[in-house]
Amino acid sequence: MKAALLQDFVEDVRNGNVDMEDFIHKVVGEYEHLNKKYNPFITIRDAEEVIEDASSIDNMKKSKLPLVPLAVKDNICTKGVRTTAGSRILHDYVPFFDATAVSLLKAEGSLLMAKTAMDEFGFGTFSTNCAFGVPKNPHDVTRVAGGSSGGAACITALTKYPIVSLAQSTGGSISCPASFCGVVGFTPTYGVVSRYGLIDYANSMDKIGLMAKHVEDLEIPFELISKKDPKDSTCVGLKKTHEKFEINEIKVGLVMEYFDAVKDERVKKAVMNAVSKLESEGVKVERVSLPSTKYALAAYYIVATAEASTNLAKFCGMRYGYEENPENKHFDEYFSEIRSKAFGAEAKRRILLGTFARMAGYRDAYYLKALKIRRMIIDEFKKAFKNADVLLAPTMPTIAPKFKEADQLSPAEMYAMDVLTVAPNFSGMPHLSLPCGNVNNMPVGLHIIGDHFQDWKLIDIASEFEKLLNL
Ligand code: GLN
Repeated sequence: MKAALLQDFVEDVRNGNVDMEDFIHKVVGEYEHLNKKYNPFITIRDAEEVIEDASSIDNMKKSKLPLVPLAVKDNICTKGVRTTAGSRILHDYVPFFDATAVSLLKAEGSLLMAKTAMDEFGFGTFSTNCAFGVPKNPHDVTRVAGGSSGGAACITALTKYPIVSLAQSTGGSISCPASFCGVVGFTPTYGVVSRYGLIDYANSMDKIGLMAKHVEDLEIPFELISKKDPKDSTCVGLKKTHEKFEINEIKVGLVMEYFDAVKDERVKKAVMNAVSKLESEGVKVERVSLPSTKYALAAYYIVATAEASTNLAKFCGMRYGYEENPENKHFDEYFSEIRSKAFGAEAKRRILLGTFARMAGYRDAYYLKALKIRRMIIDEFKKAFKNADVLLAPTMPTIAPKFKEADQLSPAEMYAMDVLTVAPNFSGMPHLSLPCGNVNNMPVGLHIIGDHFQDWKLIDIASEFEKLLNL
C-alpha cells in the first residue's frame, strides 16, 4: 500500500525536518513543470508570495496542516488570488475574501499554492469546457481528465508532494475526474461544508469536497472544513465520529440499475472483481433496486440548468469580470453583447435550457415534476439504507475517453455520461469514488454511496475497502 503522505508530512514539519523555503520552491517548481504537459492549473502562485504566507503561520507545531500545499478549484474564492470559475467572463476577477472552506484550511497552516482547471462554472464532464486550457489525463495525455474538477484530480494523481485539493460537485464533478484519474474523490452530504465563497452553479446541489491519494488523507481536511457557518444558512456542519468496522459486519447493497447502465463490459467486470474480492473477505453483499434512477438524469438536468440560468444573470458586464465601454448602449443590448462574447457555448446552452424550463407555461410540466422525482429518488435511497451501510456501483460507465472521442459526443450524449453520478448528488447523499481496478491501464472507480450525514461512516468503510483491495 502507498504510504499516507499527509500525516507523515505533518509529523515531519512538526519535528523540524522540512525547510520551508526550499519546500515551497520545490512544490511551485513541480507544479510549473507539470502544468506544461498536463495543464491542471489556471493559476500557480509565485513562490515568494507563498513564502510570505508561510512566514506568518503562528504555531507550526500546533497547526493541523502546517505547510501542506493547498490547491483550490477555480470556482472557490481565494483572497487576492484570481478566481475565474473557468470562464472568460471572470478572467480578471480577484476576490477580496476567502471562501469559508479555504479560510478554515489556511488557519491551520495549509498554504494556498494554486487554482485548478475546470469546466466553465462546472458545466461539463470532461473539463474540456474551460476557457483557460484543458487538463489532461495523468495516465494518458490523449485522454480527458474528467470534469468538472479535472485539474483537481489531475494534480492529486501527479504530485509527489502532499496535497489538500479542494474540489466541488453539483452532479458528479468530484467522482467523475477521480475515477478517470485514479484518485479518491469525496463529496460530502449537502450542507455539511459551507458554500460561502463558492461561485454557484446550482445552489440546491453544490457541494465542496476533496480529492486525495488515500482515503486516510481526507480525514484532517474534512474535519476542518465540515464546520457550521453562519455565512451559509444551509450549512449545518458535522461532528467527527470514528467507528471501527469488523469486515464481516459491513453490509453493502449493489445497485442493479447502475450496473445495467454500464455498457462497457470491461468496466463492469473491473468493478465486479473488486466487489467479489470484498465479498470473499467477508463483506455482506446484497442486490438492491432503485427504479426511479431512470428519471434521475433528465430531472437533474432540468433542476441544474434552471438554477444555473438564474445564477448566471449576475454576470452582466458591470459588476465583476469582463466588461467593455457601454458607449451609451441600452442595457439589454450591452448585456447581450458581453454575454455573447464572454460565455462559452455550454454556458449559453444551459442558460437557454434553464430559462425554458422555468417559463410560466412550462414550469409545472418540467421544473415541478423534476422536483417530485427528486423526492422519489431520496425516498428510494432512504429505503435502501435501512438494510445496507453503503451502496456500491461503478462511478462512471466508461474509462476516460480520448479527446477526439469526447469531442464527437453531442451535448445529450455528454450529459448521459453522468448517469451514475447524478442521483447521489441530486439527493444530497455523501459519496466517494475509490480506485478499484484498471482497463487498458486506465483507472476504474468504485462508487461508494452513504446515507445523509453518515460521511464519517462512509470514510471509515472506504478506508477498510481500500486496504482490502490493496491499492
Ligand atoms: N457533468 C455534470 C454537469 O455538467 C456535473 C457537473 C458538476 O458536478 N459541476 O452538470
